[in-house]
Amino acid sequence: MRYISTRGSAPDLGFDDVLLTGLARDGGLYVPADWPRFTAAEWREMRGLSYDELAARVCSPYLGDAIDEDDFADMAADAYSGFDHDAVAPLKQLSADTWLMELFHGPTLSFKDYALQLVGRMFDHVLTRRGERICIVGATSGDTGSAAIEACRDREAIDIFIMHPYQRCSDVQRKQMTTIHAMNVHNIAVDGTFDDCQDLVKAMFNDMAFRDEMHLSAVNSINWARIMCQIVYYAHAALSLGAPDREVSFAVPTGNFGNVFAAYAARQMGLPIGQLIVGANENDILARFFNSNDMSMQTVVPTLSPSMDIQVSSNFERLLFELMDRDGPAVAHLMQTFRASGSLGLDDERWQRAQQLFSAHRLSNEECRAAMKAVLESTGELVDPHSAIGVVAGWTRRRDPSVPLVVAATAHPAKFPDSVGEATGVHPQLPPRLSDLFDREERYDRLPNTLNAIQDFVRKSNRAGGR
Ligand SMILES: *Cc1c(COP(=O)(O)O)cnc(C)c1O
Repeated sequence: MRYISTRGSAPDLGFDDVLLTGLARDGGLYVPADWPRFTAAEWREMRGLSYDELAARVCSPYLGDAIDEDDFADMAADAYSGFDHDAVAPLKQLSADTWLMELFHGPTLSFKDYALQLVGRMFDHVLTRRGERICIVGATSGDTGSAAIEACRDREAIDIFIMHPYQRCSDVQRKQMTTIHAMNVHNIAVDGTFDDCQDLVKAMFNDMAFRDEMHLSAVNSINWARIMCQIVYYAHAALSLGAPDREVSFAVPTGNFGNVFAAYAARQMGLPIGQLIVGANENDILARFFNSNDMSMQTVVPTLSPSMDIQVSSNFERLLFELMDRDGPAVAHLMQTFRASGSLGLDDERWQRAQQLFSAHRLSNEECRAAMKAVLESTGELVDPHSAIGVVAGWTRRRDPSVPLVVAATAHPAKFPDSVGEATGVHPQLPPRLSDLFDREERYDRLPNTLNAIQDFVRKSNRAGGR
């Protein structure tokens, strides 16, 4: 399998280089040169596989000869063995036609673990074989950071620098990052928003000299390998509910568009996915796009669902590439205009096409609180603010009630105890393995929102590059 950039001018790469590279050199994102498809018969044969066996089957066409299939299967088995539910991504039935896909059984209680636990192992595997080291830099509005750090801690070939917006993460999210003390883990609190952090990451990658000197790599959701790993739980859910012989729809609380794009990828691989429903908070650029072809940037406002406090959803570019019939230069042009003018204009015909598959629904903070309460009252489930947005978006926007709806529960409610408690009157408990989190010592460096300050810090702390 070869990978091409959404902007059409970076070199094609194999899986191992895409894994280690992250952002393409032309500023684009890597996507498979062709979508691998399984036949209905092949999908049927996958029913009943365990989660890690399914991961090996679904991911194998993407690996090419970069990672041996048996090695990958071993890594998948190892990655998911530590999850606290045997089904790894269990489906819980909420009503006759609606299911919750619980994606919070990994070490940091968010769906990010499902990809990152495996990606961390793949990094180590490929780097060790090549005799290389890397420096991972990432931006997080909360969950990516802890999941990435948890996946990379103490790995000999990796240094990891994670930036979070100072005082804009929940206490639980911040502590899950800053209480991990390992030689190779560096937490940075940036005076700015999540989008500022993300811009700093992009700026570091666009500084080619720095990028090469530091051996920069990314684990944020622009990394194709993460999307690939996330396809697995959509396949797992779809097969459990009768695919490929029955359609299924998904509702996904969305920020950077990585998770819901993995559902799109599952559909490209031949699964009968009827509808993809994007749940949004007050940072609703995607909802405005899918509902009225208005993709205009606004300032980011903090909400009850901080992992979705994003205006520029990086992974949307991957969908745009498909909507533009894989015309890289056209995507590059659109993205430049978007950057310059703050608004992306897609012609009506292509927008209609997007709308056939995608729907979106926005919830204000008030509606998000009401959603947590309504979900608890009508289903008995305590859900976190992100998942609540997913459930209500699904309820509101599903078109065909005869198609089963699966809502991605992207975080455990105990990651957001204050909002959940305030909305429902029920205080969620952390699982036993995290119950002493608030007694652990925090460590991080607070830095100004300037490229210079961050680059200096990385240069002096990185064990792989620099001096
Ligand atoms: C990261 C995250 C999201 C957003 O996922 P994207 O892939 O960025 O769209 C939603 N909910 C939670 C809890 C998250 O951690």
